[in-house]
Amino acid sequence: MKKGIYPGSFDPVTYGHIDMIERASKMFDKLYVSITENINKKSFFTLEERLDLLKKICQNYKNVEIVVCQNKLTVDFALELGANVIVRGLRAVTDFEYELQMASTNHQLNSNVETVFMMTNTDYSFLSSSMVKEIAYIGGNVNKFVPKIVEDKIKEKLKKA
Ligand code: ADP
Repeated sequence: MKKGIYPGSFDPVTYGHIDMIERASKMFDKLYVSITENINKKSFFTLEERLDLLKKICQNYKNVEIVVCQNKLTVDFALELGANVIVRGLRAVTDFEYELQMASTNHQLNSNVETVFMMTNTDYSFLSSSMVKEIAYIGGNVNKFVPKIVEDKIKEKLKKA
């Protein structure tokens, strides 16, 4: 059984991520979408909120399972799950340096895990979670970028803040 893992912050999940999940799910018998805490980014949504949103959004992808990776290296977590391929997405050239650094580091940490990259769908090449948050903060409409359930949750959260 070929298993892959797609790690990310998903804060929040966007149509860019969903497109990646849909495409990657066709490449593996089982795809784990792993919500990973990124210590360099202060999160908007809690891990539980992101887990709940991703679970709801991905419920129709039968071979996709949403998991949370906390206090663990992605490579170790991947092997624990029996996945030896990490899937990451590349948008503009600006992604390349960070992704190369991460893939090389992961390879040094454990060479049994390979990283593969998928090019962004051109419709979403400029779409990022940070962009969505920035637009939402200033009251802009994010419905082109995230599903309704995510949009509603962002609004709810901003109202409370
Ligand atoms: P991280 O904080 O780990 O970079 P993100 O949630 O921002 O987490 O992104 C997870 C992965 O999804 C990264 O590989 C990123 O490049 C990819 N990704 C994010 N948005 C898009 C998009 N619009 N198109 C393709 N890949 C994307």
